[in-house]
Amino acid sequence: MEAAVMAREVVSVMATIPAWSSAFNEAMIDFWGGEVLWQQPMVEYTTYKVGGPAQAMVFPCGIKELASLLSGVRQLDIPWRVIGGGSNILVADEGLPGVTLVLNKGFAAKTVVQDSPEAVLVKVETGSSLASFVNWCVEQGLTGMEFAVGIPGSVGGAVVMNAGAFGGDMSKVLSMVTLMDEQGDVVTKDASEMNYSYRHWGEESGQIALEGFFLLRRGDKQAIRASCRKLLQSRRSHQPMGPSCGSFFKNPPGDNSAGALIERAGLKGTAVGGAMVSEKHANFLINTGSATARDLVRLMQLVQSEVKEKFGLFLEPEVKLLGFAKT
Ligand SMILES: Cc1cc2nc3c(=O)[nH]c(=O)nc-3n(C[C@H](O)[C@H](O)[C@H](O)COP(=O)(O)OP(=O)(O)OC[C@H]3O[C@@H](n4cnc5c(N)ncnc54)[C@H](O)[C@@H]3O)c2cc1C
Repeated sequence: MEAAVMAREVVSVMATIPAWSSAFNEAMIDFWGGEVLWQQPMVEYTTYKVGGPAQAMVFPCGIKELASLLSGVRQLDIPWRVIGGGSNILVADEGLPGVTLVLNKGFAAKTVVQDSPEAVLVKVETGSSLASFVNWCVEQGLTGMEFAVGIPGSVGGAVVMNAGAFGGDMSKVLSMVTLMDEQGDVVTKDASEMNYSYRHWGEESGQIALEGFFLLRRGDKQAIRASCRKLLQSRRSHQPMGPSCGSFFKNPPGDNSAGALIERAGLKGTAVGGAMVSEKHANFLINTGSATARDLVRLMQLVQSEVKEKFGLFLEPEVKLLGFAKT
């Protein structure tokens, strides 16, 4: 994500076609038995509704399948990345080279592993949507996940991003995470060993989150439901509707709120092409309908430079830029 940090230097990685490209389609068929969707427009897989085509898109449903896919892409040195719900990514207009793995409803089981009066341990496959997990908790009368109501995306994306709201975040409810590395090796780690921090899970890139184990408690179903409703209403009254990735920037260290800094810099309503700083919530850089990824990157850079100039603070994007590389 250095590309995002050094925003002035972002360019698409599709600009140069690498050597593996010509043999790619046949090779892919050799090592992946499942369905491949070619040249899928990422507009359809991201809440930003921007981004060019993913060269090859696959939807693994199991751990073995995933390991054999990783072994294939490793042998051919094909670039790859994993996404969940696409609610925290900004994809280059030129698209994504290589293989894009989407973990979603084919990899979404939820199981109660241990149930005692003090605590309930729940295992969730990371392709599950966070919304369906929160709803499931409500139905089971389990409390602990209410903070996550209304956060879009998958459980995997939330585990990786340490998604949070209303004073809660994933690191506070996660007990363990099962991970696969680039070699296809699987390990289950205690969340306390993972160096979780604000919107960051502390693992190296190339790790895939497979399962999250959540430590929850039994509670009153009606009270849990009511609490979720209240938090959802609060979210709706503070956040703009329409295509976005939620808060674009992380809050800088200290007591600073990125949204407040952007607002104080007078940037609400500032637009670049179809991208605009929301009038409702200054940390939302929204797609007004016609934005390109380039518009959003240029708006990001403008906001970063204005805030730096006025307050001496660097705003680091929370949103992950995919398909961009440094020049
Ligand atoms: C309207 C709106 C409101 C939002 N509100 C909040 C909020 O209140 N709090 C908050 O924290 N976020 C919020 N977000 C941001 C976003 O929803 C969260 O970061 C979410 O957890 C991302 O999940 P995802 O599945 O969409 O991840 P994606 O966008 O698909 O991916 C995000 C990153 O995680 C990686 N990744 C995804 N799945 C895996 C996996 N299984 N293994 C390894 N890496 C993986 C991707 O490579 C990428 O780097 C909001 C977004 C929107 C659009």
